Amino acid sequence: MAIEHLRTWKIGQVEITRLVELWNWEDDIWMCLQDAKPDIVHTQPWLLPHHATPDGRMFINFQAFVLKIGDRRIMIDTCVGADRERDFDIFTHMRTSFLNDLAHVGIQTSDIDTVLCTHLHFDHVGWNTQLVNGEWVPTFPNARYLFDRKEYDHWMVLRETDTSHSYTHLIDAVDPIIKAGLVDFIDASHKICPEVELLATPGHTPGHVSVLIHSEGQSAVITGDLMHNPIQLAFPTHPATFDMDKVAGAKTRLDFVKRFAETPVLVIGSHFADPSAGYIVPNGDSWKLEHAK
Ligand SMILES: [Zn+2]
Repeated sequence: MAIEHLRTWKIGQVEITRLVELWNWEDDIWMCLQDAKPDIVHTQPWLLPHHATPDGRMFINFQAFVLKIGDRRIMIDTCVGADRERDFDIFTHMRTSFLNDLAHVGIQTSDIDTVLCTHLHFDHVGWNTQLVNGEWVPTFPNARYLFDRKEYDHWMVLRETDTSHSYTHLIDAVDPIIKAGLVDFIDASHKICPEVELLATPGHTPGHVSVLIHSEGQSAVITGDLMHNPIQLAFPTHPATFDMDKVAGAKTRLDFVKRFAETPVLVIGSHFADPSAGYIVPNGDSWKLEHAK
């Protein structure tokens, strides 16, 4: 969205930079917790002011992350993208400084060697492509784009069988990458490099993955959409509105919280509003996010 929203974390030799496309999007509690009442926020005062309003509205960002590791330049998710026709006005024909922000941290689109989409929702694949002379072309022409095979196959079946979703994002941000021959189909056991591996976190979508980063004894995890707002650390098993499989999503969140709670692993939320990262710590009989210093 703007250079002032860039934020960088160091995990050993890995530099992780956040590129924000939409800042502090505000919406109802239902966006995160199905059928919850806004006053549930009053039980979690630690959410204010970064992640919620006093009257129980939620803040989220739309953002991507770029990893610098030696010569490697790895993009984790690619936001909404420009020039799109989408179901919501706010995402339609967006013009943001995404590519300028990338350049500001010293990275050209041609430098990106790997693009990993945690899943294939429209807000994680957009900048896979850009519109050039009326044609959707890969934004990162020298990258291998990594799509989880299970995730891709699921969307291919959905587009043939289910009219409840919109598939324009597949047409403008996924199909052109396949056509250009830039996709490697992977599963969650794939290691991008010694410092970056994946973690299967199904539920939000069937082939959803999170991203684990290790270097010099330090660790971080980029969540993807297994949760959208840290309120879900407090209520991990509460059904999440946007999970395709709500039972699997609840199990994934609980497993995730138990795995990373009370550890020094920096949890970076793919949709968490600023400061977007912290540590999972106990809070009564549940958990909360303690922001990184
Ligand atoms: Zn998302």
